[in-house]
Amino acid sequence: MTATGKLFILSAPSGAGKTTILKKVMAQVERLAFSVSHTTRSPRGGEKNGVDYHFVSVDEFQRMQEQNLFLEWAEVHGNYYGTSRPSVLEQLELGQDIILDIDIQGAAIIARDKSVQSATVFVAPPSLAELENRLRGRGTDSNETIELRLRNAAKEMAAAKDYEYLVINDRLEDAVSTMQSVIIAERSRSHRLPDGEPINLVTDK
Ligand code: ADP
Ligand code: 5GP
Repeated sequence: MTATGKLFILSAPSGAGKTTILKKVMAQVERLAFSVSHTTRSPRGGEKNGVDYHFVSVDEFQRMQEQNLFLEWAEVHGNYYGTSRPSVLEQLELGQDIILDIDIQGAAIIARDKSVQSATVFVAPPSLAELENRLRGRGTDSNETIELRLRNAAKEMAAAKDYEYLVINDRLEDAVSTMQSVIIAERSRSHRLPDGEPINLVTDK
């Protein structure tokens, strides 16, 4: 059986609302798993190890890099982040679709990798002023961290044109519904049933 799932690659400037959209989409769409990245950043209040991220030391991250355990990795806003190769490949082989919440550098690496099927989605805020409101309103980051993320946002927004889909997160419900539509459209392209089950899995039965 050669059933292979699809990678949905989501990128956005920090604070655009990607995590909020993802949580709602994941609760409603079947056969979709979230890839839990490894990071050297410290957990924010409420974040759980193994659920939001695998929080690791810089030494541990470098050891994983040396062992080629990352499908992609990047330094983002002063910390390291990486996607586990064994975990993603294992789920793809089972025909499971996976969402990767990764930055523009990681997205470019995966989009070039012809051994995996992927679709790229950029989530943008309605404006940079609203992005700043959301980052400050979230109340999880220091002023210095917010300033750094806002400086990086302009560069990240310029990469939006390289993505296949653009979801503008103005009204949350609309953004969630657009994101769900993207998943349904991509599944139709790759010969999936609406619930995401690969057709060759069905005909193999
Ligand atoms: P990201 O994962 O992109 O960094 P979050 O999902 O953490 O962003 O969202 C940043 C903040 O903006 C959170 O406080 C969240 O509740 C809020 N938020 C998300 N989407 C919207 C929206 N459409 N309208 C208003 N606030 C939003
Ligand atoms: P945050 O610290 O706000 O959770 O994430 C900061 C940035 O790192 C976001 O742009 C997020 O998409 C990105 N990121 C999270 N996990 C990964 C990963 O595994 N690889 C890459 N390249 N970026 C990641």
